[in-house]
Amino acid sequence: MRTPLIVPEYTDQSYFEAGQLVAVLTAQPLDRLLDYKAPAGGCFLGAYVEVPLGPRKVIGVVWGAGQGGYDPKKIRSVIGVIDVPPMREEMQKFLARVGDYTLTPLSAMLRLATRAPGLTDPPGMRRIYGLGDKEPDRMTPAREKVIGVLEDHGGVRFTAGELSTLAGVTSSVVKGLVKQGVLVEYETPRDLPYPHLDALHAGKELTGDQARVAGLLRDKVASQSYGTSLLKGVTGSGKTEVYLEAVAECLAQGRQALVLLPEIALTVEFLDRVEQRFGARPAEWHSGVTVTERRRCWRMVGEGKAQLVVGARSALYLPFQNLGLIVVDEEHDQSYKQEDGVLYNARDMAVLRASICGASVVLASATPSLESWANARAGKYERFDLAQRFGAAELPEMKAIDLRKEDLPSGRWISDSLAREVFSRLERKEQSLLFLNRRGYAPVTVCRACGHQIGCDDCDARMVEHRFQGRLMCHQCGETKPMPEACPSCQVEGKLAAVGPGVERLAEEAVERFPDARIAVLSSDMSMTARNLKERIKSIAEGEADIIIGTQLVAKGHNFPLLTCVGVIDADLGLQGSDLRAAERTFQLIRQLAGRAGRADKKGTAYIQTLQPEHPVIQAILTGDEEDFWAAEAAQREQAGVPPFGRMAGIVLSGPDLAQVFDVAQYMVRNAEPLRRINAEIYGPAPAPIARVRGRHRVRILVKADKGTVLQPALAAWHASIKPPNNLRISIDIDPQTFY
Ligand code: ADP
Ligand code: ZN
Repeated sequence: MRTPLIVPEYTDQSYFEAGQLVAVLTAQPLDRLLDYKAPAGGCFLGAYVEVPLGPRKVIGVVWGAGQGGYDPKKIRSVIGVIDVPPMREEMQKFLARVGDYTLTPLSAMLRLATRAPGLTDPPGMRRIYGLGDKEPDRMTPAREKVIGVLEDHGGVRFTAGELSTLAGVTSSVVKGLVKQGVLVEYETPRDLPYPHLDALHAGKELTGDQARVAGLLRDKVASQSYGTSLLKGVTGSGKTEVYLEAVAECLAQGRQALVLLPEIALTVEFLDRVEQRFGARPAEWHSGVTVTERRRCWRMVGEGKAQLVVGARSALYLPFQNLGLIVVDEEHDQSYKQEDGVLYNARDMAVLRASICGASVVLASATPSLESWANARAGKYERFDLAQRFGAAELPEMKAIDLRKEDLPSGRWISDSLAREVFSRLERKEQSLLFLNRRGYAPVTVCRACGHQIGCDDCDARMVEHRFQGRLMCHQCGETKPMPEACPSCQVEGKLAAVGPGVERLAEEAVERFPDARIAVLSSDMSMTARNLKERIKSIAEGEADIIIGTQLVAKGHNFPLLTCVGVIDADLGLQGSDLRAAERTFQLIRQLAGRAGRADKKGTAYIQTLQPEHPVIQAILTGDEEDFWAAEAAQREQAGVPPFGRMAGIVLSGPDLAQVFDVAQYMVRNAEPLRRINAEIYGPAPAPIARVRGRHRVRILVKADKGTVLQPALAAWHASIKPPNNLRISIDIDPQTFY
């Protein structure tokens, strides 16, 4: 982290004549804006420009009027203005505010906002083909197919690749027709606008409850002013159908909409639903999209020619011209918190973005985050509930299986009670899901001779056996090594044993217990593309498996209509450890998971294996008494003064030498004047929850303050006063996900 930039006041001046001084922000890690002369023809405030920096050419944005104070003769000129609309003032403000909040330098924020490949390329052209007036010298079946495709589509022109795919012929057939003048070549701009989404295209007929909530959300969007709504609805209640109505209103107003999803695997299904509702597919923005498509998306969003974007959290930094609505689906999802690079929670930043540009926000979830629940209770957000599932689908029943009474032999995890339920589903040709939130075969490999547990060489973590791959893997750093024959510690052979279950091992047990069942494993570490995964989930949903064995991956938003039995193998797993959010997460995960069952007309039941059925969290899961659960959680956190009822920051110092890292951390705690001045409490230093990653030791300091305190300036001043050695890194995480 560097000292924050000194940013000029937002200026009234929106245009700079050639030769006038402008202050340019670049994505280079400098601590200041750089002065340049506006180029021939002048430039607008916010213009994306190319500027000389030393021997290089870099991209920047005209951030304000030049600050002067240099020898005017030495000031260089902007090389040229990039042919995209200028950055809007609301985006400048947004970047500055996120930077201030997360203590991220503005240059790094600009990098997020310019992550479009080929920004400086001239608008590219591509070749497309249509029918000319010549006949081919000789008609072949393949040639006939190509001509047929073009005739079928009326005057539409295609690229050579599209033509050969649509006609099912090789590209040489297309080339041959071009040579003979049967096909004529045209040039067209590469970045095409997206097809028009029709807000009036027939949607599904909503139920009374759905229509009421949809109407209220529509009104909020129509008001064209900022407001956040929490849309809480049980899984299958039609939240998606309802918020698509808010999107429809936004499009009808001629404004742009953004829908954030927590996982790429969910986008394919969502795109289909958008197409059903609006007659065409929207723009996509996430890591699974090709470079060309990203470039097209960035440009078209900026030109206002993309009405709706579906994307991952980084879509918040797209250059919307007229943003009217942001939907954050599954708003409680942890993946919205970026844990590397710029530390921000996309849900909170969505609210910030919308408040700056006068847009609506819809946060949708069956199990909202405590933050959003509390914000709704405090009246900051408006809350809308959908209490019933759509159609005949009923909410699943929740039952506990008390493992203390089950007498499970060691190395087995499926209790007889659970097995009986699975058997009865097999008979009825219904599906069962066995859930275990642990990847791999076994979390621990231990030597029976000496007791040694195999750990990662670089991290404070045990290696997890992945038997399908025959390797041990560290889930912290991803390092793998082959499963050794002999114990690395005592060299005795043949004594290494797997301890504890992972999904692979659970699958092994299931194969033994249910030999006639078709078993499918769905785990997030199976290397599959989003599209493959989606197809696999689809075929499973259509009945290709009898038993699904899965990790967290299956809890998110997928529909399995034949599923009527969910078995949670170890409900206690998430409750261990000292993470204050553990209760909230376990609650959300298991409720979400149970929501996978009984989505069609068959009633589902979730069976929860636990050693502590009387635990308050397990009780809340069983009774479904959500409001009570949240109220109790909120009271506990309020008492402890932690988020969302207090301010918190986690400071992690890391370096190769543990003693040195601790020394610096202790020095920081002793010299924390700026924090003492605002009465912040300081805890630590202590080893971070993961004390060593990739060979770097990690030490953590926690800072806590009252809700009314603004922590960031004090943190920045404190940090600036420390001059750490070169090999030591300090990262500051505002609102950390884990507290202790
Ligand atoms: P949620 O997002 O709350 O889990 P969805 O919007 O995905 O719920 O709805 C669950 C299923 O019910 C989907 O297949 C959806 O198409 C269907 N559905 C919901 N509401 C309606 C409706 N009014 N008419 C027809 N189908 C609906
Ligand atoms: Zn490791």
